[in-house]
Amino acid sequence: MSKKLLLKDAHIEGIRYFETYRKQGGYEAVEKAFKMTPEEITEEVKTSGLRGRGGAGFPTGLKWSFLAKPEGVPRHLVVNADESEPGTFKDRYLMEFLPHLLIEGMIISSFALGAHDSYIYIRGEYAWITNILEEAIDEAKAAGFLGKNILNSGYDLEIYVHRGAGAYICGEETALLESLEGKRGNPRLKPPFPAVKGAWERPTVVNNVETIAAVVPIINITGAEYAKIGVGKSTGTKLISACGNINKPGVYEIDMTISVEEFIYSDDYCGGIPNGKKLKACIPGGSSVPIVPANLLLKTINGEDRIMNYESLADGGFATGTMMGSGGFIVLDEDQSVVEHTMTLARFYNHESCGQCTPCREGTGWMYRILKKILRGDGEMKDIDLLWDIQRKIEGNTICPLGDAAAWPVAAAIRHFRDEFEWYIDNPESQTRNYGMSNYA
Ligand code: NAD
Repeated sequence: MSKKLLLKDAHIEGIRYFETYRKQGGYEAVEKAFKMTPEEITEEVKTSGLRGRGGAGFPTGLKWSFLAKPEGVPRHLVVNADESEPGTFKDRYLMEFLPHLLIEGMIISSFALGAHDSYIYIRGEYAWITNILEEAIDEAKAAGFLGKNILNSGYDLEIYVHRGAGAYICGEETALLESLEGKRGNPRLKPPFPAVKGAWERPTVVNNVETIAAVVPIINITGAEYAKIGVGKSTGTKLISACGNINKPGVYEIDMTISVEEFIYSDDYCGGIPNGKKLKACIPGGSSVPIVPANLLLKTINGEDRIMNYESLADGGFATGTMMGSGGFIVLDEDQSVVEHTMTLARFYNHESCGQCTPCREGTGWMYRILKKILRGDGEMKDIDLLWDIQRKIEGNTICPLGDAAAWPVAAAIRHFRDEFEWYIDNPESQTRNYGMSNYA
């Protein structure tokens, strides 16, 4: 069983409330951090090797060190809680059950960054969690951990919760900042990165919920001890939200040394596939990362066990590997249709495209319509090549990664399951002619 750092107290009744959280050692990391300098805290985070848990895996300490610090200009920490990636629900779990872990992490991180106004941008659908967070913020403030002169340190901090309105694109950090500023959530060109020009054009660090929560154990056990957990550049623990055809869907904390096979079949985690069905494929990092067939999922190109970490999942590049991404682990058994699954994702990305960039705005619609055409039995062999061509024209040609996220699932599905596309085209009469009708309009 993996070591637990984030969820170790998640089972304790009342852990959502300040008093219980404090009894379990909560806010001791804040007390420890306030005896350190901001530079020392950043150094601990760098030493820990913590990588951004939102999906990109960018080194957190490095991002913090990029934060511009011009005299007299306020800077901000913005926590990205706009968790919208299909298959990803780990931040929801953290915030719902351990809101004080996030707030404690925010206090330490804001102190390290010199921020006095910090924000949690939460997806609109998590309305009940907004209430939980606001209640926890009030409790922390009443106990002297937020507000003016925290613990007599002379340091002031306010945390605000800002609810989004249900647009996936607002999870992209620059669209998120636009939305936070009260504007339409259209992504900005990068550079400048938010670390230089972020919220209200001020230096801003945008970090995922899990990333900021991980700062608490890092300060508690030290960066060096945190770095000893895991392997290579995959240090510490990672939350995985597992769903699809598995016996035990849920949120698991893993230490990034366990194999994919163990994660799927062990009773400590997913508990295998229902009804003895065979594993067909998996999307291990949220819907944006490439789907991989079972054989390539369980073994690397060198025939070694594939491990649940950043390096091993990506082994072999996009041709054979996939990505750790946000840790949204979606399992497909032998009965699932990859073409249908790909169409569902294409519909999602088409719906969520902000429309700013032509390749994404138009291309996602084209991919969705062609996939529907194949599924309703009207496909032609040339449609497969057309799909391939369209996804190639989207990838890398848009302001933000939504375009890539829409292109990669299509590319991987064709790469690994071309015969399934061909089967649909060769067997038009076996298709559900409903596709393209009201359900999938
Ligand atoms: P990115 O690689 O562009 O950036 C990662 C982070 O590093 C950003 O915060 C960026 O500002 C920072 N950064 C990179 N280079 C920098 C530099 N030179 N100076 C300062 N800062 C720098 O990736 P991204 O667009 O932030 O995220 C893409 C990922 O998001 C995808 O891989 C996907 O897995 C994930 N995703 C997650 C969800 C979710 O719900 N969790 C939803 C959609 C996508």
